[in-house]
Amino acid sequence: MPTSTTEAPLIVWFRKDLRLADNPALNAAAESGRPIVPLFILDDQKRPWAPGGASRWWLHHSLAALQADLAKCGARLLLRRGSPAKVLDEVLRESGAEGVLWNRGYEPTVIARDKIIKADLQKAGKRAESFNGTLLFEPWELKTQAGHPFKVFTPFCRNALRMQPRTPLAAPKALNGFAGSLTSDTLQTWTLLPTRPDWAGGLRKAWTPGETAAAALLDQFRENTAESYLISRDLPGEVGTSRLSPHLAFGEISAHQIWHRARTWEQGAGVTGFVRQIIWREFCTHLLYHFPQLPEEPLRREFSAFPWRRDPGSITAWQQGRTGYPIVDAGMRELWHTGWMHNRVRMVVASFLVKHLLLPWRVGEDWFWDTLVDADLANNAANWQWVAGCGTDAAPYFRVFNPVLQGEKFDKNGAYVRRWVPEIAGLPDSLLHKPWEASEAQLQAAGIVAGQTYPVPIVDHKTARSRALLAFAELRNV
Ligand SMILES: Cc1cc2nc3c(=O)[nH]c(=O)nc-3n(C[C@H](O)[C@H](O)[C@H](O)COP(=O)(O)OP(=O)(O)OC[C@H]3O[C@@H](n4cnc5c(N)ncnc54)[C@H](O)[C@@H]3O)c2cc1C
Repeated sequence: MPTSTTEAPLIVWFRKDLRLADNPALNAAAESGRPIVPLFILDDQKRPWAPGGASRWWLHHSLAALQADLAKCGARLLLRRGSPAKVLDEVLRESGAEGVLWNRGYEPTVIARDKIIKADLQKAGKRAESFNGTLLFEPWELKTQAGHPFKVFTPFCRNALRMQPRTPLAAPKALNGFAGSLTSDTLQTWTLLPTRPDWAGGLRKAWTPGETAAAALLDQFRENTAESYLISRDLPGEVGTSRLSPHLAFGEISAHQIWHRARTWEQGAGVTGFVRQIIWREFCTHLLYHFPQLPEEPLRREFSAFPWRRDPGSITAWQQGRTGYPIVDAGMRELWHTGWMHNRVRMVVASFLVKHLLLPWRVGEDWFWDTLVDADLANNAANWQWVAGCGTDAAPYFRVFNPVLQGEKFDKNGAYVRRWVPEIAGLPDSLLHKPWEASEAQLQAAGIVAGQTYPVPIVDHKTARSRALLAFAELRNV
């Protein structure tokens, strides 16, 4: 136990900010000169939107990286499992800490929980301080002239671009790690990684979680992609985007770091387009803050009455990438194997689920939540509502992505489909996105048996489109 109050440590409660650089809570603790107890709490209770399988995989590796980075600076990451209020109470008692510092989260349950924790800590005479380590601008800072939350992206973005986010903070070079003895769980005992079956082979190949890898990806993006981003970002067969989303989701890199780095690059349409995407992320989180029902309920009320179908067989075909539409199947398989899917293809598969199949957007949102390494409550929910047409700033109801045209336009040479749907790789480019138009001889030459080696389409595009337009048009008359 500490011998005097000047030596009482501060707990830095790590959450979705698993980095040392530009971490305001850690920085404030380091500047105080007090010993630091870095703490991560695994809250494993069953609750809505608990991390899905892919997120748990990422979390394991991200914590391992943070542990190593903190150790290099002289501090030990304490791992504890349980309800955060209870664990904080225990660690405060065991360490004699003066208080707890953390970076804010914006998920409704996190806000409610943190409010109680903060009030209880303050009542107990402890320091309890939260910081903004996640967003460029707080949701209460960026409002319309009338003081309302923005519901449409374009004016939100225009206003965001006029503001100046704070300068990122440098990582502390050394930390005054708490020297007292505190017990810690080990990562292994948390069983965040899958065992039987071990489905994470593709994730291991595709990703290196951690702050160092995130910084390297940003460098690579600047070097190889930033300039051409406006074109390359739509081409799923190429590495045409930053692939920073899981790193952002776990806070291994901050929006501030990206924004300020991007300002130092040669400016052009590519860099501007990239910064706009960072502002989309901001917009989604602001929406979640102002409309906490976003993950569960359509923001356009009339959608509550939408006649979604029930069709477990089609849901399975969609999840497994066996719909018979190559670009959809490629996307769903990329997701399953790597925990990530290209944004253009996310839009196509989401549109296919809600419009072609008339299945509830919540089904897709749940599947993405479990399988994406970048699963983010705000981004996921806002984008699903955008595609379904039920969000505040949503795709028009009559926009039904045509999976054949999308494939032909954005995967012209078929590199993406051939990679993820190898059983039809032998088809010529002209048929790759519509194998049902191939003649028997062409199928045979490509080694395909329709309906056996590759499914025939589970819905006919034209029929499905008309059905969707009718259902969505009727809704407008409700
Ligand atoms: C149905 C659907 C569900 C989605 N679910 C998620 C999710 O759970 N988590 C998630 O991070 N993104 C989600 N997205 C948004 C987007 O697809 C991913 O952020 C993007 O593909 C990540 O790749 P990247 O890092 O290479 O993006 P880049 O193009 O390099 O963009 C840089 C960053 O900007 C942000 N960004 C880009 N596009 C969007 C967008 N449309 N909305 C919000 N932020 C964006 C991301 O943080 C991204 O890392 C979803 C999109 C759709 C259509």
